[in-house]
Amino acid sequence: MMAAKIKKDDTVQILSGRDRGRRGDVRHIINKKGRAIVDGLNIVKRHRRSRSAQEASEIVEMESPIDLSNLSLVCHICDKPTRVGFRFLNDERKVRFCKRCEESID
Ligand SMILES: [Zn+2]
Repeated sequence: MMAAKIKKDDTVQILSGRDRGRRGDVRHIINKKGRAIVDGLNIVKRHRRSRSAQEASEIVEMESPIDLSNLSLVCHICDKPTRVGFRFLNDERKVRFCKRCEESID
C-alpha cells in the first residue's frame, strides 16, 4: 500500500474550483474514494425535508468530499502549499517531507 501524502488533521489548500486557495484541516479521509472532508471547505447546502407537517424543513450546510488530487498539503514549517516526498530517518521510520523547504513534516 502506498503511504498517504495527505492525512487526517493535515492543513490543506484547495487547488481549483470555487474554494480555490482556501485552507482547512482534514477531518476525515475517505480512503476508498481518494477524497477528503475538510473543515469549512466545499460547503454544500442540503434541504432537509420535514418528517411531519408540524416540523419545518430546514437547510443544512455540510462539507462535501474533495478529491485528494485537488488538495495540496500546507507545510507547517514554510507555511506554503507544497508537494510531498518521502524519506527514511536513521531509525528507519518513513516520514513525509516538504519539497519546498525540505523539512520533515511528520
Ligand atoms: Zn516547507
